[in-house]
Amino acid sequence: MAVDPETRTYAADAEPGREATLAGWVHEIRDLGGIAFLILRDTTGKIQVKFEKDELDDELVETALNIHRESVVSVAGAVEAEDRAPTGVEVVPNAFEVISPADPELPLDPSGKVEAELPTRLDNRTLDLRKPEVEAIFEIRAEVLRAVREQFRELGCTEINTPKIVATGTEGGTELFPITYFGQEAFMNQSPQLFKQLMIGSGLERVFEVGPIFRAEEHNTPRHLNEATSIDLEAAFFDAGDAMDAAEAIVTGAYEAVARNCRSQLEALGLAEFSVPDGDFPRLTYEEAIERVNATGELAEPLVWGDDLSTEAERALGGAVGEHYFVTEWPSEIKPFYIRDLADDPDVSTGFDLMHPSLELASGGQREHRHDRLVVGFEQQGLDPAAFEYYTKMFRYGMPPHAGWGLGADRLVMTMLGLENVREAVLFPRDRQRLSP
Ligand code: ATP
Ligand code: MG
Repeated sequence: MAVDPETRTYAADAEPGREATLAGWVHEIRDLGGIAFLILRDTTGKIQVKFEKDELDDELVETALNIHRESVVSVAGAVEAEDRAPTGVEVVPNAFEVISPADPELPLDPSGKVEAELPTRLDNRTLDLRKPEVEAIFEIRAEVLRAVREQFRELGCTEINTPKIVATGTEGGTELFPITYFGQEAFMNQSPQLFKQLMIGSGLERVFEVGPIFRAEEHNTPRHLNEATSIDLEAAFFDAGDAMDAAEAIVTGAYEAVARNCRSQLEALGLAEFSVPDGDFPRLTYEEAIERVNATGELAEPLVWGDDLSTEAERALGGAVGEHYFVTEWPSEIKPFYIRDLADDPDVSTGFDLMHPSLELASGGQREHRHDRLVVGFEQQGLDPAAFEYYTKMFRYGMPPHAGWGLGADRLVMTMLGLENVREAVLFPRDRQRLSP
């Protein structure tokens, strides 16, 4: 009984009165003596298969009821209405085949009756994703990325793919993973920043990329990965405000698409009440932000101008604002060299962060497109402009003003679904302890 993808019936589509061939995993077997039930599970859901032993071929009954849970099988038979069956229908089999048997002992219980710790889950992602609430995360992640691409296309952006093996980092030495490239030192790219900017001076003008970024973060936190997926925008003639508008459109567009197209996945995650942000995120200047944080009284030491927002500060501020928000006009000294300063105040930058109440989602700003200032910026950051000549050179041949941002896809999914650890939103996360699988 070969399973033909063209004629196979999925559990959710089985209709009473039809003959069907189904295939999937054995979720459960309940043998009550004269009658037994096998619950078959496939990507669409579950369906009951009924074995009235007196009525069926002995060999068929024997084969079906002696296999272990999670084996892959196919069943052919008549679909009948049955009120007592979990989905209101059941299959009366006339053929049964074991396609791939499962061992009796499993490293993780896909029925979820026995809970597993995150490391065990990550070691056994194949089995972990047999749980509907885990599969749902990755269905939603796929929908988020689909919606993001669609929004970018509506904004007139072209999708690009830039190299991940590079000669120099984006922002210099720290957090870089060195590799050997034919006997020469090279690095895994921290961000597509410089490459996407190079495309601003090309005929493309507005570009986006969805791709991996690599950070040799020393610390193990619930929101840092060593390989993350970044959603990046760069657009000619955008200022920081335009870039923030685009971030609002992308983020709310992703929420809307998930609310519209992922109902069953949201239900599997217990998120039937999923709400879409209104798309008009408050924009606080850095100065207002530190005042708000200090006013909460939650920090042991009040923040002063020039301090970065610590995790505690982000949490206090997020609690006070209570929705997505931007922090704008950061001190220039704590933003990278490629961010442009305000025209009337070199101490203040056009840099901004997009925040979820619980953590940072994106960083962006208007870029420094004036060649001379850019070179000075490199020097001020302790970088050798000569090593970045491939980049700075292009600012001498006609580079429009531009702005953009990088948004963590993993953090977007994590915060959207209220996951406690960013690793839950990543199939095979890379962190200090984890290089395999
Ligand atoms: P943080 O301060 O939270 O470590 P960052 O400011 O170093 O983040 P950026 O360089 O601004 O990060 O990168 C832009 C976005 O990419 C971040 O806002 C975040 O969503 C995502 N991102 C960056 N580094 C990581 C990481 N190590 N793990 C997961 N996501 C990351
Ligand atoms: Mg940042």
